Amino acid sequence: MSRVILIAWDGADWRILDPLLEQGALPNLQALIDQGQKDILRSTVPTHSWSAWPSFLTGVDPVDHGVYDILETVPGTHKQYPVTYKSIKARTFLDDLTAANKKMLLLDVPLTFPPPELDGTLIAGGVLPKHRTFTAPADLTADLVKARLEWPVNGMSWTTYHNRPDAYLDEAYEVTAKRIAVSEWLMDNTEWDLMASVFVSIDRTQHCLSNYIAPDHPDYAKNRDSRIGTKVADIFRQADEAIGSFVSRAKPDDTILFISDHGFQSCTRTINMDRMLHEFGYLDFSASNAVFGPMQWGPMRKVARKVYDTLGLHGKVALPQSVSWAKTRAYTTIRSTGEGVSVNLAGREIDGIVDPGDYEKVRDELMDRLGGYVDPKTGNKPVKEIHKREEVFKGRFADTAPDILMVPNEGYSLTHAKSAIEDADWVSGDHRIEGTIVAVGPHVTPFEQQPALIDMAPTLLAALDAPTAVEPTGRVLHEIVGTDAGLVAREATTAIPGMDGANEAGVSDTEADEMEEHLRGLGYIE
Ligand SMILES: [Zn+2]
Repeated sequence: MSRVILIAWDGADWRILDPLLEQGALPNLQALIDQGQKDILRSTVPTHSWSAWPSFLTGVDPVDHGVYDILETVPGTHKQYPVTYKSIKARTFLDDLTAANKKMLLLDVPLTFPPPELDGTLIAGGVLPKHRTFTAPADLTADLVKARLEWPVNGMSWTTYHNRPDAYLDEAYEVTAKRIAVSEWLMDNTEWDLMASVFVSIDRTQHCLSNYIAPDHPDYAKNRDSRIGTKVADIFRQADEAIGSFVSRAKPDDTILFISDHGFQSCTRTINMDRMLHEFGYLDFSASNAVFGPMQWGPMRKVARKVYDTLGLHGKVALPQSVSWAKTRAYTTIRSTGEGVSVNLAGREIDGIVDPGDYEKVRDELMDRLGGYVDPKTGNKPVKEIHKREEVFKGRFADTAPDILMVPNEGYSLTHAKSAIEDADWVSGDHRIEGTIVAVGPHVTPFEQQPALIDMAPTLLAALDAPTAVEPTGRVLHEIVGTDAGLVAREATTAIPGMDGANEAGVSDTEADEMEEHLRGLGYIE
């Protein structure tokens, strides 16, 4: 029976990889391309890892698994928890593969914490609270210790390395080297039909150092051959060597997939969406915010950063602002990327003030302001596309989708700024929808239609001949598995998460309380 090896570089983009391939810096990826098919893999909307990886795991769009951001709000409150595997309100392919007795080896796949039950071995990826079991089986770390190996969790918190590229790159290289060693050992010492390994070093590095590696950044030509430029390329070389190592463990009829969950684009200007809404007169910050002048923000942000580090959240969400809900008509609802804004609607939001009768008017006006906004410094519009939610989201969780969805223009990130709009500082790249795919295997043929991330789950199930209890939105990529393979339905043996309306938090109350207590002490929440 043939197996699947899936290697994912979080955030990989052909615009960045192609020049490296041309230089011969990625020989193992080049070998895959030479033997197989290369294409663009369309990500999800919103285009960030917290929505994209659940779509990878389920085969459905965010509107059908319900994860739109890194934080989810407890209904009827302003309380927010970091999203986890339990936030994914659709069945994942893990259920189907387990039901089919297919063994998995899943390494660092975001949103697989807390570790779900599965047939095989898993090391959770994404946001991990420290001091919690992050593996399945739970005693896996003891085996690793015996083998003199260690899996470092979290890490690569790029914003904490503000303007210290050497220190950041050293950590990224070291953490990734340890993870590769563990991955190799597990490939050799466990049974698996599907091996999936995600490299987050690519995404983290591109966020802060795209100006050394991305041809669409204006400083690229000047920076790429510098000492730091070489060190940045080494992060890609290291991940490429891992491709060679993993692929050397394949059998001749195994299918090998290289993917990314989204692509990347460079930015030189950044936005803080809540501050922008404040400037437009749609959002007001609470009195506590005014009390803390610019001088006080520094030390307070430092303490908040520590809290975020404890939760491994650093660099993934903007520090919270105290919003005065009674004076706020619209607020940011996709904090990870700033792509989503919602109306503070009476009857829907707990402290909503916009009358349902005014909803369309307020939304239309706001869309005009955001979509028409021109950056005074560049004369360009930061927002390339702007959509009403019903134009984009049709599915089970359309009700909790942001009211307005935006796509940033080239050169812009809609997050990471301290003020409404400013020059990018230690951030030089953010996400875009065009990801990557390379497929190699006995049945691989050129892609007839553009593949999408939501096609991966049905394709993996078809490749491994596992019946599914899910009706995926994505298609089986026959260009990968051949025309004989297809999806077979099976009866569900587990409940669909979230169908009973329960919103089970993935972190314990103690962990959430710890975070909230710190944040309350800082005046960020009431
Ligand atoms: Zn990212």
